[in-house]
Order: sequence, then C-alpha cells, then structure tokens
Amino acid sequence: MQDVNTQALVVGFVDALAIVLRVGAGVSAPDEERSALMTSTGRVLTEDVTADRDQPPFDRSTRDGFAVRAGEWSAGQKLRVVGQVRAGEAWSGGEMGAGQAIEIMTGAAVPAGADAVVMIEHVEEGGGEVWAAAGRTLTVGENIVPRGSEARQGDVLLKAGTLVGAAEIALAAACGRAEIAVRKRPRVAIVATGDELVELDETPGDFQIRNSNSYALAAMVEAAGGAPVRMAIARDTHEDVRARIEEGRKCELLILSGGVSAGKYDLVEEVLAEFGAEFLFTGVKMQPGKPVVFGRLPKGKSWMYFFGLPGNPISTQVTFHCFVEPLLRGMCGADVVGPKFVQATLAEAMRAKAGLTRLLPAFLRHDLLRPEVRVVGWQGSGDLAANARANCYAVLPDGRDLQAGDVISVLLR
Ligand code: AMP
Ligand code: MG
Repeated sequence: MQDVNTQALVVGFVDALAIVLRVGAGVSAPDEERSALMTSTGRVLTEDVTADRDQPPFDRSTRDGFAVRAGEWSAGQKLRVVGQVRAGEAWSGGEMGAGQAIEIMTGAAVPAGADAVVMIEHVEEGGGEVWAAAGRTLTVGENIVPRGSEARQGDVLLKAGTLVGAAEIALAAACGRAEIAVRKRPRVAIVATGDELVELDETPGDFQIRNSNSYALAAMVEAAGGAPVRMAIARDTHEDVRARIEEGRKCELLILSGGVSAGKYDLVEEVLAEFGAEFLFTGVKMQPGKPVVFGRLPKGKSWMYFFGLPGNPISTQVTFHCFVEPLLRGMCGADVVGPKFVQATLAEAMRAKAGLTRLLPAFLRHDLLRPEVRVVGWQGSGDLAANARANCYAVLPDGRDLQAGDVISVLLR
C-alpha cells in the first residue's frame, strides 16, 4: 500500500470519537416522508405536532372519590351524594348544588359547581352521605387538572427536529396523529468480506464460519434509524471487494466488515483507495477494534462516508456503537450526540493496557443508587456467546489499572 492516501492514520480513542462527531454535525439530512406512527420510532420529525384540542379537554379528576365544594368539606359537615360520574361520561344533572357531592372516577370530567375532588380514602360514608375523615382537609382545585392546563389547542407540542421515541409517539397519538412527517431512513450498505464466510442457508464446511456480522450490523443500523441493505459476501479478491463497494455506493453510507487488518488478504483499504477514498482514520488505539477505518468516497459532486470495521464480531459491534451509530444518527437528521456512555461502579479490579482504551463485554446491573458493572469472561473478540451474556461494554482507560469500587464509563448498546 504505497498510496499516500492509505498511510497509517492511527488516532487515540477520544480523538476518533471527536472526528466522528465533527463529521456527523456537518452531514446533510435526508428528505422527508409521511410515516405511520408505528414505523416512526428512532426517526426525526420534520413538522411540528400541535394539540388538536385543549389538554386535558375538560377539568379532569385525578382520583376516584367525590366531587365537592372545598369550602363545604370540613369536620362534621355531611354532604348528600346526588349521583355518579364515570370516565368517558358527562355529568347530566346540571350544576351541583350546595350541600351536595357527586361520586367521581379517575379521568372523569368534574361537574360544574364542584371545585375539588376528595379521594375515596379520605372519606367517611353512611346513609347516602359523605363527610371528611378525621383530620382531613381539602383545598380548592385539589385532585383536578384544569382544562387546557397541559396544552392549549394549537400549541406546538413536538417541534420539527425531535427524535421520535415512545414518549413522542404517545403525544402524537393523543393529538390524533396516525401519521407524521419524518426524515427518510438513510440506506446503509452492509458488506461482509471474507473467504471463510458462508450465508445462513448454506452448511459451513469444517473450516468455514457463518456470516453473522451482516445480521448484527443490520440490526444495529435499524436501531440507529437507518435502512440496512445487506449485500452478498465479498470474497477476499480485488474484483469482489471492488464490485461490492461499487454496489454499496448507491446507498448513503457504506459499512464493510473484515479485511481491514494487516493480513495479506485484507484488501478493503487498498480497494477504497482505488476509488479515491479520503481516510479520516485507519486505526484507533482501542481494543477490540483497533483496525477500524473511517473515511469518505467521492460520489457525484459530493461524498459518501464509509466505515471498514474489523471482522471479529465483537470488534465489529463495539466499533459500530462507538463510531457508526453517532454518525448515522446525524445522517438521520438527529442531533449528533456521542455514543451512549454512562458511569458505573466496577465490581472487580481490572488490568489496563498501555496505549489502548479497552472496551470489554460486561454486565451492568441497573441499580437505582449504585449501578455496578462486571466484566464478563470471554475468549476474545470472536466470542459471540460471551457477548450475548453481556449487556454493555466496560471502558477501561488507557494505561490505568482499576480497583473494585472505581467508577468507570460504560458503553450501552
Ligand atoms: P478479518 O477482520 O477479516 O481479519 O476477520 C477476522 C475474523 O473475524 C475472521 O477470521 C473471522 O473469524 C471473523 N469474521 C470476519 N468476518 C465475519 C463475519 N462476517 N461474520 C462473522 N465473523 C466474521
Ligand atoms: Mg477477513
């Protein structure tokens, strides 16, 4: 590899993250389309969603109990129960009079004339009357959410640019929106390279392995908001790798797995260079994942970005979460935030490696006060079974041995 383009450009872990974030902040977002609410998760709104009516649309009781006048709810004063109003119903008995109470359910509209709801647990009952349990008082407005207090009709509740998740879907549904305008999913070409690989419908020979990476990558692309396009396996020949890259160029992002190490049959960088690639890094000081490659290819008058991820499955997945996922989110039109790092307490002492940030499959126990992370025993970056026993990656900083009880970063997946 004499080409100046492919000269080793090995960067530190933090620098690599910064490069991806910088690129991600500058990418242009895809066009918009209308999408059914249920296929909108992980996508980015391109319109404002407004309240189609006041929310709540009526003075809403937040408790099961009795609608009363707060001023009449005092020790010893008995109120006559004149009826009941259920959720979904209107009270049809006109304005509630003095000395009266109406039984009410959570979510029902508070009848005119009542100004508070007393919860059932605070009520004494007998002979068709109710009164305050000892020591219980009530203030005007208690247990009522007034009409329009959450939103007024026409208020913007979700702004264009918002990333859609369950909370946003709930709100859009509450506004009667079965469809919303969102950004299209960027198409992501997935190319596995390797002479040893077979597809799932083939029986592997004794020394062959199944192409699991394409499936893992497709799942991760989808979760990050992209539309995966799985391509045929590229054998470790120039022609094959060239043909797949050519095909992959029709998409908006290209991910290759395998063929980026220093071996004789690792051809990916070489072939990318033949296409005029500009490399932003050709290695990162991390483990697993060191050979990861990031850059861009000329495409028409513009560019498209590519990643060459190492073929070992855990390396593939870790490097996806660190680098591809943030960029892909940016390509979906979302704010580019970094990988999902959180802090947790390390359960056991760990040895560091000089010059490498390690990201090891680990299990994070989601404790309210003290989330604890424990590295899972593994046989190295091909150990899919160990990785599936993990739920995150523990980040061991470059060159610093760690003690049990140290707080470290954890990469969620
Ligand atoms: P490479 O990065 O091409 O040197 O691949 C390293 C190792 O990763 C290979 O020897 C395989 O064992 C494994 N590997 C490569 N590609 C895949 C794939 N698509 N699916 C599962 N394992 C793979
Ligand atoms: Mg290979």
